[in-house]
Amino acid sequence: MEKVKGILEEQKQYFYSGNTLDISNRKSALIKLKNEIKKNESNIFAALKDDLNKSEFESFATEIAMVYEEIKDAIKNIDKWSRRKKVKTPISQIKASSYIYKEPYGTILIIAPWNYPFQLVMSPLVGAIAAGNTVVIKPSELAPATANVIEKIIGNIFNKEYVVVVQGDVEVNKALLDERFDYIFFTGSIAVGKIVMEAATKYLTPVTLELGGKSPCIVDKSDKIDLFAKRIVWGKLLNSGQTCVAPDYFLIHRDIKEEFLKAVEKYIKEFYGDNPIDSEDYVKIINKRHFQRILSLIDKDNILLGGKYNESKLKIEPTVVEVKSLDEKIMDEEIFGPIMPIITYSKYEEIINIVRSFEKPLALYLFTEDKKLEDRIIKDINFGGGCINDTIVHLATTELPFGGVGMSGMGSYHGKKSFDTFTHEKSILKRSNFIDIPLRYPPYLGKISLLRKIFK
Ligand code: NAD
Repeated sequence: MEKVKGILEEQKQYFYSGNTLDISNRKSALIKLKNEIKKNESNIFAALKDDLNKSEFESFATEIAMVYEEIKDAIKNIDKWSRRKKVKTPISQIKASSYIYKEPYGTILIIAPWNYPFQLVMSPLVGAIAAGNTVVIKPSELAPATANVIEKIIGNIFNKEYVVVVQGDVEVNKALLDERFDYIFFTGSIAVGKIVMEAATKYLTPVTLELGGKSPCIVDKSDKIDLFAKRIVWGKLLNSGQTCVAPDYFLIHRDIKEEFLKAVEKYIKEFYGDNPIDSEDYVKIINKRHFQRILSLIDKDNILLGGKYNESKLKIEPTVVEVKSLDEKIMDEEIFGPIMPIITYSKYEEIINIVRSFEKPLALYLFTEDKKLEDRIIKDINFGGGCINDTIVHLATTELPFGGVGMSGMGSYHGKKSFDTFTHEKSILKRSNFIDIPLRYPPYLGKISLLRKIFK
């Protein structure tokens, strides 16, 4: 791919010109980005409607507002984040001082998925720009309308040697991954995450992998079941369940199962009407392949609620299914659709055993008023992040790093963590020339006892 090679060469030249090192240039790039997004809001809405049938409200809340927050946070703090940091110097290093310099990596590759096709390009982009890098963006080919708007926005405000969008299919991704970037930021599936990491080994390129998996949602006995169900139905059906941190499966205390199901049914109706498939606010499945994949996960004999679908609209009704055995297909893979598998439990050990039988999840949600249970779950289960008594919203907080652990990903971002992700910390020790302690120089005879006194 000669085009990719050419772009990369130009970006490297631009990076070495030092333009991106200037903090005021970074700030003005972020301001330009914000203004251009604002100017294009209606185009973004139209593209997201086209790709996913997202409503304007959902598009603004989950795709645009977060990017504005990230930009605001970066502009406000970039001076502080990028400043050289003085750290302590041990007595053994006398006379010297120690500093951490914040250095951009260079040229970044951002590969994005289709489910939040705008936000998952723009949020990492803000961090990469704030940290002083040049960027090649590869949006998902499965959300083409949004990819076109992103290309237009970026093309209107940045030269391609600074930030550029490269569109194309998997072959283009492969060509990009063959090149030598200074950092790869990937958001997508575990399977492709492995391909990205393997490609990165060629040049030992550092990577962030923002992946997915099966995120549990645990609902304890409580007199707040109605409120719990409301927050759960909202989080599960946002983007029709096509959210990396969507609650995937539900562990419901046996005593409240019926009450929970009734409340779930009530809120599905309240949010999307009697026939959610016809609701303008109900997002469609991205394509036929995913539509068929999700349907294949539903065992008709296990349906407790819903189950209808419309292929021409690519919509599947919110569907609750009972899990009779953990070997069922629905428990095999990340659902990434509006299906809610319910498992009942009565003892704490059951929760732990079930959750630990899967890979470490990207998110975990616990609904309880029992502080002890809260502490035990947080202590006993490894997961990327999550909420107590809510779903999804932990990722909309710039102060909280967002990322997975184990198979759900490596590395994290948002707010300062994005800046840090795209920054190399260069450690410098500055030695004084006033004195020169002879201890370290040969010949060593008789010196080790003094060394032992210092390093006790
Ligand atoms: P995907 O892995 O299929 O695709 C992601 C990107 O990789 C796309 O740009 C695609 O073009 C590219 N790609 C696909 N196949 C490739 C290959 N063989 N070689 C190189 N590149 C390739 O993921 P998706 O279907 O777009 O998104 C859904 C997945 O992403 C889910 O697993 C979800 O959990 C995860 N996800 C994670 C986060 C997060 O922040 N952790 C956010 C959104 C989605």
